[in-house]
Amino acid sequence: MPPPHPPSPSHRPTVSPSRPTTRLAPSPTGALHLGNARTFLITWALARQNNWSIILRIEDLDGPRIKPGAIEATIDILHWLGLSWDTGPFIQSHDLEPYRAAMRSLAHNALAYPSDLSRSEIEAAASAPQEGVHETPFPASLRPPIHPRPFIDESTNWRFLTPPGPVEFHDHFAGPQRLDPASTIGDFIIWTKRAQPSYQLAVVVDDHRQGVTHIVRGNDLLDSAARQLLLYRALHFSPEPRYTHLPLIRGHDGKRLAKRHGDTRLETYRAAGVSPERIIGLLAMWSGVTPNPEPMPAADFAARFRLNTMSPTDITFTSENHAWLLGN
Ligand code: GLU
Repeated sequence: MPPPHPPSPSHRPTVSPSRPTTRLAPSPTGALHLGNARTFLITWALARQNNWSIILRIEDLDGPRIKPGAIEATIDILHWLGLSWDTGPFIQSHDLEPYRAAMRSLAHNALAYPSDLSRSEIEAAASAPQEGVHETPFPASLRPPIHPRPFIDESTNWRFLTPPGPVEFHDHFAGPQRLDPASTIGDFIIWTKRAQPSYQLAVVVDDHRQGVTHIVRGNDLLDSAARQLLLYRALHFSPEPRYTHLPLIRGHDGKRLAKRHGDTRLETYRAAGVSPERIIGLLAMWSGVTPNPEPMPAADFAARFRLNTMSPTDITFTSENHAWLLGN
């Protein structure tokens, strides 16, 4: 093993780690809908209840190119809902150097390698996909020889050398977790051929350098937490964050709330004359604050919300919910 690659200056946290810190991390590709809004409202309420500092981080690296004005629109709708933050916005695309520094460290320590195999080449080499796992696990047989490398070629995909064995952690809401990314996912992409970090790497580098201690987000990212913890360890980042993964809002078909369930974007409700208090009233019922929806400002939600009495089951968005928002 070569000696650990010294962290570059850009690895230093840009935010004081002395106070517990959480983040709102919207991706400006999909405008904020009722599902993300509930997650952000709960994150904000927990921060206000526990005196955590809040960072706003715009995750504009993941997914398609961001339309002009999308970042401003995301910030505007969060303010409209009544949310606030102490630091930021940090915009990921503005400085890729911290992610490159992490890549140099992983590649130098023989924990990452370039890999431009196509999906069909990977599928041909993999065994039948397991139930509930959507990605084809990357078969270890496709690994190239592993040795320290310079991180020079930014326009190719790079994978992380996923170590064998389970990753265990305690989720503050979802409870004890034991996940096995080596067998369900294999070596995953941490740098993409679009010359930018993948979501998994970007989120770890940012949470570390921005001093994030408490991560609150939807439970669709629960299995990402295992990959992210492996990256924390490989990069010698500590302390590891505490995770709180929240239940999701689903459509009538049981799928995670999305465009196919109709337009539930906050900006669409705002344009239809719906008040933020009414949106929060519905989110409050969904969060166990009230038995029926009743309009309330964000500050009342923060005073009344209790994580330990919130139902752990996912919520279904119904046509009655939509009608109530519109005042029908
Ligand atoms: N940007 C991601 C999203 O909007 C959140 C990522 C995270 O919380 O780690 O779904």
